[in-house]
Amino acid sequence: MSNESEGRPLVEPAQTVAVAAAGGAGRPRDLAQAVGVAGRRSSGGALATMGFDAPRTGQRITPAFDLFNPPARDLIDDCVHCGFCLPSCPTYVLFGEEMDSPRGRIYLMRAALDGAPLDDATVRHFDLCLGCMACVTACPSGVRYDKLIEATRGQVARRYARPWPDAFFRQILFSLFPYPARLRPLVAPLKLYQVLRVRRLLTRSGLLTRLPARLQALESLAPDLPRHVETVPAWTGAQGVRRAHVGLLLGCVGQVFFPGVNAATRRVLAAEGCAVVAPPGQGCCGALSLHAGREEEAKTFARATIDAFERVSVEHVVTNAAGCGSALKEYGHLLRDDERYAEKARRFSARVRDVSELLDDLGPVAPRHPLALRAVYHDACHLAHAQNIRRQPRAMLRTIPGLEVREVPREGGLCCGSAGIYNMVEPGPAMELGERKARNVLAAGGDILVASNPGCLLQIKASLARLDADLPLAHPIEVLDASLRGLSPSSLIKRS
Ligand code: SF4
Ligand code: SF4
Repeated sequence: MSNESEGRPLVEPAQTVAVAAAGGAGRPRDLAQAVGVAGRRSSGGALATMGFDAPRTGQRITPAFDLFNPPARDLIDDCVHCGFCLPSCPTYVLFGEEMDSPRGRIYLMRAALDGAPLDDATVRHFDLCLGCMACVTACPSGVRYDKLIEATRGQVARRYARPWPDAFFRQILFSLFPYPARLRPLVAPLKLYQVLRVRRLLTRSGLLTRLPARLQALESLAPDLPRHVETVPAWTGAQGVRRAHVGLLLGCVGQVFFPGVNAATRRVLAAEGCAVVAPPGQGCCGALSLHAGREEEAKTFARATIDAFERVSVEHVVTNAAGCGSALKEYGHLLRDDERYAEKARRFSARVRDVSELLDDLGPVAPRHPLALRAVYHDACHLAHAQNIRRQPRAMLRTIPGLEVREVPREGGLCCGSAGIYNMVEPGPAMELGERKARNVLAAGGDILVASNPGCLLQIKASLARLDADLPLAHPIEVLDASLRGLSPSSLIKRS
């Protein structure tokens, strides 16, 4: 699998050389030094893994895995321990610790299959994985780490009892975010919080920094809400000759907190000759649950999403969120053992397209107006690594006259730390990665940052704020929408 991004390697060449020089298995700390990354040391001097309180429950669960979908031994055996994935792994880059690398985690999975217990330390190493899939694209042996960690997370979710504050916090997240009806009542108080500039008051009084780290993270990630909420009608006709009939996934968090991205997607698709159906009653696609190992919950959301889109007959199911797209394309695998849904899920996944992917397939027809902007493009992991979509969003932006697409000059393939709920449950490493990404984004010297995942936009925005830097942000489809509508660059920059 290629790890190229428009001719620019996602892993820096110097790092690749360093990996080869470091000599693979057995020398992970040499490697960390070779790539210029110092591991964090605890007060005791030992190399420490950061994050929200490492659990100390004392559990030693044997056997570590039950018989229901454990990580597959044949996939584990595909790993030849070469270490080429290590410099692409954000947690290895942060900690310089073998067990926080893909190779180390695969080793832990194998040990668990061979009889080692599932204990606090093992769970910690699995929890710290962002699920960014950079190791999948970096691996020359084609190791399916995505399948391995998905199965492992399912085992951890079923078998390991988290300390109650951790379990409670996660339960709140999963009782809230996948449900638009529960999120909507939060919009008004959040708007008031922003209009009254409560954050500034809390910061000045020092109260904000006294909150637990996870609550601070939640606060910093709150989206800026638009003044006018744009809704997406159930049906939009194609402009000109109809070239496709598509269903638009509105997303759970997306339809409440990013209505402008959905509205822009609908307008662009219609302008490019697509009839757009937004099936009513859509909820969460299950991406958050799937990536957190909550398999049964993910299956329930997947079945409901399939049903919603089956009620309308469309050629393609289109999404504008990288995380959702990668989950939708996994439905065939997720529901493979479900007699009623296995075939439907396989057909559904085959019809899923990221909006940039579909527009690239169709080719541009709607006239573009110039936008004099230097747009820095950030690769969302679930688009670049999980779906191998790198060229299409860049190509889409390049159809806009006057717009220059700039690359993040360093570590473009390294996760920004967003990763679903990761930045809320692991604020320490997420913050480190976010600030690292923000610095690299600023080094590109653009007017605006564009990324195809709302989570990345929120994470990088919060990280820029911590660095006292300001850079407008937008989804690429919003940029194209502005061009099609003849809006000025300031319409994008001012509203961010
Ligand atoms: S996962 Fe792939 S790249 Fe990483 S050590 Fe194993 S074989 Fe090498
Ligand atoms: S998914 Fe990302 S964080 Fe997890 S092991 Fe692979 S590269 Fe590292």
